[in-house]
Amino acid sequence: MTHLVNNAEDFADQALDGLVAAHSGYVRKVHGGVVRATQTEPGQVAVVIGGGTGHYPAFAGWVGPGLAHGAACGNIFASPSASQVYSVLKAANRGGGILLSFGNYTGDVLHFGQAAERVRAEGIDVRILPVTDDVASAPRAERDRRRGIAGDLAVFKVAGAAAEEAMSLDDVERVAQRANDRTRTMGVAFSGCTLPGADHPLFTVPDGKMSVGLGIHGEPGIADVDLPTADEIAQMLVNKVLVEKPEDDGRRIAVLFNGLGTVKYEELFVAYRRVAELLEQRGYTMVDPEVGEQCTSLDMAGLSLTVMWLDEDLERLWIAPCDTPAFRKGAMADRQRVSEDKQDDDEITAIPESSEASRALAGRLAGALADVHQMLVDNESYLGGLDAVAGDGDHGIGMVRGARAADESAQAAAAAGAGARTLLIRAGDAWAERAGGTSGALWGMAIGTAARLLDDQSDPGQDVAVHAVSEAIGAIISLGGADVGDKTMVDAAIPFRDTLVAAKGKGIGPAWAEAVAAAEEAARGTADFAAKRGRSRTHAEKSIGTPDPGAMSFAKIVAILRVHVSAA
Ligand code: ADP
Ligand code: MG
Repeated sequence: MTHLVNNAEDFADQALDGLVAAHSGYVRKVHGGVVRATQTEPGQVAVVIGGGTGHYPAFAGWVGPGLAHGAACGNIFASPSASQVYSVLKAANRGGGILLSFGNYTGDVLHFGQAAERVRAEGIDVRILPVTDDVASAPRAERDRRRGIAGDLAVFKVAGAAAEEAMSLDDVERVAQRANDRTRTMGVAFSGCTLPGADHPLFTVPDGKMSVGLGIHGEPGIADVDLPTADEIAQMLVNKVLVEKPEDDGRRIAVLFNGLGTVKYEELFVAYRRVAELLEQRGYTMVDPEVGEQCTSLDMAGLSLTVMWLDEDLERLWIAPCDTPAFRKGAMADRQRVSEDKQDDDEITAIPESSEASRALAGRLAGALADVHQMLVDNESYLGGLDAVAGDGDHGIGMVRGARAADESAQAAAAAGAGARTLLIRAGDAWAERAGGTSGALWGMAIGTAARLLDDQSDPGQDVAVHAVSEAIGAIISLGGADVGDKTMVDAAIPFRDTLVAAKGKGIGPAWAEAVAAAEEAARGTADFAAKRGRSRTHAEKSIGTPDPGAMSFAKIVAILRVHVSAA
């Protein structure tokens, strides 16, 4: 468990504040994360990385000369939101374009992708590289579905060194892509991890067992086996990783033997001793191996072996100097700090003019968001329990965090005289920013989509309202890319939308009631099949018999909105 917690909600922010306090010579805080505190050559490609909190040194611990230019930092095990990533991208940009790289998780792909689109719309070239090193998370033929774990470091290191060599964005992207193509990781765990403030672990490994192929967010492993000796673990990891060796294997490899949180360094060395012997026996030269904690999973006891098969470029970039809070190589020339007056403040946008009618609607919307928030508080542990069956157990926590932030920002916007559009845009951004996770991205996007079909002047009629809701659901579908039957919130959202649109001639109140019934039935029906999307995908068969958490929360939200719709 985590012993030092003031308040679970503030844990990630406070951890980041402490990191910045400890390493102010390296990093400075911006909205959504950190960027280098030291000067970088103008025109240099910026490497921006990021992900959830709970993996230190990933990700903020890797920001500094020779490695990353900035890191977007989400909540515990949750992706930073698009608006947070956007802010870090803007602050890290040096005019040479940006390589944006992160582990391949649905929530991160959504948020980082949206942020990249926003920055591209402003004329900045951004390339995206999701890291896919985890051999246990999908078969080799489906490499682009694999997760990113400790191999993140190898890919980011190569990209950061390439940027430091003043390579063009095309070239940085090319070598980083090659690094990802040639990097593989396999992990094992001896115990689960516990979210700060929680009283039980996300998953447990039975005594005397070891979980093989775990995820770094408490996703349980693919198989539990009897606990082997350190040498046997070394043998298994080496075998599983080397199976994936590339055709042009030059026998020179970068190696990271990574502790996941609570395995002692001495234990790592005991096992690494055997890893090194085995690799040598197979004819490999290990170039600058790293043994230690680089990509952790809170207090999980476990370790992983990462191998990057080197070529001339990759070897030069892997051993190049870098200087960051948690990862240093060689010697870098001293850097000037950026001057204080360069530090960018958060934009404070004024509330646009609004009409009385739109303010009245905004007030009703704020009331509806308050009810959604309360309903989710009441259902937090229920939704978390559903998500714990095959996912990572954070759906209740995430939805409450998102709804609370949306509620608070809506009340503040209403008090400041915002119209309906402005109030909902702010609520959507706040939801996505605080909730993290896949569902947070989708709900934030849905609210923002509906908001942009309103204005701050008129009181929209029922047709506009139905259209806005239907477009919001369309955004969930297109952004998430899920189909009916994948076992996601889409399974409840599509019947809801279709029923609402078909029945709208009866008036929005009755049509909404029918649509809620359709959503509730469909959400319950998701218990009958296995997940094909999201984190639960890797444990699809475990999800049979349990309804999808996102579909259930969707049905509950539209149900609570019914009284607000009828009153409109
Ligand atoms: P995370 O999966 O990042 O931990 P949550 O636990 O908050 O996020 O949300 C999980 C829910 O998100 C799932 O139950 C599912 O309904 C929904 N979800 C996951 N992936 C998708 C997707 N691609 N499209 C739509 N909904 C999705
Ligand atoms: Mg989850």
